[in-house]
Amino acid sequence: MAQTPNVIGHLVMQRLKERGLAATPENYERLYYEVAGLPPPKPEPEPEPEPVVQNNPFCMELLVTLREMLREVTDKTDHLARELGEKNEDLRASVSGLKKSREKSEVVRLLGLIVAQAGGIQDSVQNSHRDLVETRHSLKAMQDELAETRQLLNEDALTGALNRRGLDQNLQREIARAQRAGTTLTVAMVDLDHFKRVNDQHGHETGDQLLVHFTRLMRSVMRKSDALARYGGEEFTLILPETDARGAHKLLDRLREVHRQSPLLFEGKAVATTFSAGIATLQGEDNGHALLRRADGALFAAKDAGRDTIQIA
Ligand code: GH3
Ligand code: MG
Ligand code: MG
Repeated sequence: MAQTPNVIGHLVMQRLKERGLAATPENYERLYYEVAGLPPPKPEPEPEPEPVVQNNPFCMELLVTLREMLREVTDKTDHLARELGEKNEDLRASVSGLKKSREKSEVVRLLGLIVAQAGGIQDSVQNSHRDLVETRHSLKAMQDELAETRQLLNEDALTGALNRRGLDQNLQREIARAQRAGTTLTVAMVDLDHFKRVNDQHGHETGDQLLVHFTRLMRSVMRKSDALARYGGEEFTLILPETDARGAHKLLDRLREVHRQSPLLFEGKAVATTFSAGIATLQGEDNGHALLRRADGALFAAKDAGRDTIQIA
């Protein structure tokens, strides 16, 4: 007889008590289906993680090429095995014929045949070796291409600094490292002052040149272990491991000095520009987003204070 949900609920509570089970939603649900004599619903399947490769045309292309190459190698080795098997059989027949042969002319003919057959086997092996060496070279070229593409995916085309994607990866790695090792990590946001005027006065191309020039200057004052990213237009992020705010400030003072001494020249004249910067040091359980936001806040304060200044968050 069909029971009303009310009655079922009552019975479920009773059964929970009998079995000494806590009245959790999970236990209630399980016993509800049991009492009602209904099959429990199937759990929702976990969504499949989205495959990275499927969204990347370059990876797809590479996979297709790789699959083709593997098929070719398999075909070739199959062919070689078959060919060697057949040729080996022929050789064995000739050798066995030679053993039985008493006629001088027959012996000479068979010896000639054996030499030719052995040569044939050697040719097959050599050809296949050459094919395999070629395949290895192609694979190496693909590997290099993949490494280069991976790098390009993380790089800004104009300046060669990391792009946002590269910045995210690098920052995440450095934060994890600093938190694990208990070391200091500082980031600086650097933005060229009145950059728009450079474009307006000297043209966009000179603006581009200034970005490249400024990137070089920043690199010249940074350590090898530091990282530089182009955050956007004329704004850069410096990731400085094992550096505190004071160290970062010193680095930026040095940058201001070299920037003053080595300005970009346009038609023989210096393109005089300054920059503002905001510095923030990793704190506690900071993530990249929080750290960059604090550095950006300090940069905003530096702009607000009249530009050409450095502020610590
Ligand atoms: P502020 O001191 O407040 O930072 O002023 P600003 O002029 O530097 O900043 P604003 O944000 O007003 O303008 C940024 C300019 O940077 C505008 C944009 O056209 C220029 N810009 C962004 N990316 C590029 C680029 O790749 N090349 C060049 N030449 N200019 C760029
Ligand atoms: Mg600017
Ligand atoms: Mg800006």
